[in-house]
This record gives sequence, C-alpha cells and structure tokens, in this order.
Amino acid sequence: MSLKITDECINCDVCEPECPNEAIYMGPEIYHIDPDLCTECVGHFDEPQCVQVCPVDCIPLDPQHPETRDQLYEKYLRLQKAGGSVTS
Ligand code: SF4
Ligand code: SF4
Repeated sequence: MSLKITDECINCDVCEPECPNEAIYMGPEIYHIDPDLCTECVGHFDEPQCVQVCPVDCIPLDPQHPETRDQLYEKYLRLQKAGGSVTS
C-alpha cells in the first residue's frame, strides 16, 4: 500500500529528500506521493522514512492502493531495474 499526504501538510519540505524512491513531489498546493513509486520504503528501510520525519503526522497509508509486502518488494525490484533510484 502506498502512503498519501493529507491536506494537513504544512509544506515543510523535510520528507521530499528523505524518500529513497523519489516518490514525493510538490503539487499545486501541498506535497504528494506517486503511488507507482512508493514502496513504503520496502527494500530500503524498515520504516517509511517520510513518516519518520513528518512533524505533523500527515502521511497515512492510502487504502486506495492496497498492496502486500511481496508486491511492494517486487515494485522495489522493478524500480531498481529501471534505474530510477540510487542506493548507497
Ligand atoms: S514511504 Fe518511503 S517510498 Fe513511500 S513516499 Fe515515504 S519515503 Fe517514499
Ligand atoms: S514532512 Fe509532512 S508536513 Fe512536511 S512537507 Fe512532508 S508531508 Fe508535508
């Protein structure tokens, strides 16, 4: 399941650079998460990094994008193969 950013977002900018999949982007008013790129940080970290840093706790799971952990891991592998993300 990808995560989503609610309209409580205060545009503090701290989550965007933390995302290992570059799934977070600025929308017309607040930040958004691309569900095709978000893996809940599976493959990179044990916990969603954006949730860890968000000062207002406005990044819940998005029930419109249900995925199992295996599916998230497959997405991670696909993204790695596509070269969309750099691991260090
Ligand atoms: S959970 Fe991880 S992959 Fe998804 S948007 Fe947050 S930082 Fe990016
Ligand atoms: S960390 Fe939270 S409040 Fe800050 S930009 Fe990201 S979603 Fe918005």
